[in-house]
Amino acid sequence: MNRGTEACHRDIITVDSVSFSYQQRVVLNDVSFNVKERDFIGLIGTNGAGKTTMLRIIVGLLRPTAGEVRLFGEPISQFKGWERIGYVPQKNNLNPLFPATVKEVVLSGLAGKRKWFGLHSRQDYIKCDDALMAMGVEDLADKRIGQLSGGQQQRVFLARALINNPSLLILDEPTVGIDHETQESFFHMIKHMHQHHNMTFLMVSHDMEMIKGYLGEQPKSAAGKLNFYIRHSHETQDCVEENLAHSLKHLRSQMESRKEG
Ligand SMILES: [Zn+2]
Ligand SMILES: [Zn+2]
Repeated sequence: MNRGTEACHRDIITVDSVSFSYQQRVVLNDVSFNVKERDFIGLIGTNGAGKTTMLRIIVGLLRPTAGEVRLFGEPISQFKGWERIGYVPQKNNLNPLFPATVKEVVLSGLAGKRKWFGLHSRQDYIKCDDALMAMGVEDLADKRIGQLSGGQQQRVFLARALINNPSLLILDEPTVGIDHETQESFFHMIKHMHQHHNMTFLMVSHDMEMIKGYLGEQPKSAAGKLNFYIRHSHETQDCVEENLAHSLKHLRSQMESRKEG
């Protein structure tokens, strides 16, 4: 998968001859690929092609039967920089009695041990409000997460993944169950983060309109039943804004005028 990227583009994810079997069933067979800094990779494959399994191996939730994964150049067994990675698994409705509030769930995405004890700075709360606003769920901040609809919960988990400003965002069908308008603003935001904020993406999606629209009509490479759509971005001018919602201001005003018109 050599795309002629410059030497300064470090390997963010290296998957080296990874196989995975679940009981007798081979899910992944000798899969190799790599993700370079500033790649946006759309991982496409039929049901049962092993997409979700691949992501779960990359984030260390499953151990491959054979082969190796490296993150930011380090073998996964020694990797410690988990706060640099945001991961949003497939939508999974929570127990309605799950006790945390939306705000608590989003704040728990911040790195650092003290965050587990609820010691948050003013800066943390500002980041939290920004992430909630970016996903359009700021009105739900004090609600219990278990009481929200599946689509609302998904938006909260996306806000949780974004609050740390990760270098790498791994998304498994991020917009399933989310209304069209939120999908549009979410994709708008992640494209901006890709192009102007040095964020790297690995995303499983069935949304071929988004995939082809942003990553091109044809996959650039394949491994077994997995296809990789790839767009690399190196902008000479990075955006200096730090809050998340900034990239949406323009889009929101466009949406408003569309409604009025
Ligand atoms: Zn580049
Ligand atoms: Zn920006």
